[in-house]
Formats: sequence, C-alpha cells, structure tokens
Amino acid sequence: MSSIEAYNTTGGCACGAIRYELTRKPIVVHCCHCTYCQRETGSAFAFNIALECESLTLIPTSGSSTTMEPLQTPTPTWRGQSKEQIMNRCSKCLSVGVLEPNIHIFTSTKQPWVMLPEAAVVYEESYPREEVWSKETMERWENAKSRHKAQTEGVEKER
Ligand SMILES: [Zn+2]
Ligand SMILES: [Zn+2]
Repeated sequence: MSSIEAYNTTGGCACGAIRYELTRKPIVVHCCHCTYCQRETGSAFAFNIALECESLTLIPTSGSSTTMEPLQTPTPTWRGQSKEQIMNRCSKCLSVGVLEPNIHIFTSTKQPWVMLPEAAVVYEESYPREEVWSKETMERWENAKSRHKAQTEGVEKER
C-alpha cells in the first residue's frame, strides 16, 4: 500500500476567475501571522502552501472553456525576495482559496483577537523544518525543490 493517501480537492479565488484541482495533499500549509502577510493581504494572516507543481491543475471556470493563469510573484521576506517560493494569485482579486493549515508561524505578531485552536501547532517565528516535518514531508520538499531548480535552470539556458 502506498503511504500517499488518496487526495482530491478543488478550490478557487474569490472572484471565480481561477479554479484549481489538487490531486495530492499539500506538502505543508502554513498559516502565517507575520506583518508582511498581514500587509500583503489586508487581513490578519495568510495561508502559504507548499506543493508539488504537478499536483495542481488549473481548471476552466463554469461558463468558460479556458483557464486563467495566476499572477506569479516571488515571496517578499525579511531577506529580500525569495526565488524559491513563488506566490500564485488571481490577478483580478488577489486571493487564492483556503486550505486547512498544519502550522501557524510568526505568531509573535499575531493579531490579539485571532484565537488559535488548542491543538494547533504554533511557532512564534519560523521553525526548523527538519525537526518538525516528517521524513516523508522532507523528502517531498527536497524532491519538489530539485525538480523546480532543474526546470528553472533549463529555462535560463534556453534564453
Ligand atoms: Zn479572482
Ligand atoms: Zn508571513
């Protein structure tokens, strides 16, 4: 039996321009309470989801036969822009849809009125992945990273 559980979900953005299908459970879903995410979203937190590109397919919205490509931007961090993490958003409404978070991060700047469930995994800042993630999750992350690196290097060479 495969250790990868069967998973299939669909989601989309608030305005309906982007719909997606996810065929594999995300590597990790962070609920980030940092001040960057609060400013970026005009909200109290943001969901940051790491997943394998192959597991996500854009699907046409109802009444349309085409899909709209999301707007891709590097993630802003305190070290500058991260090329490893690309934010995908709807270019019309900037939202991405919602998945249940595994880990809450940067809760030192969490809004005081946001209450987290007692069982939530919580870190005041970032956290050491290798201490928190399972071996399988670490492998998925490393594999996805090296495939992404190989693809981006391939694109740069073609230019
Ligand atoms: Zn939208
Ligand atoms: Zn953040």
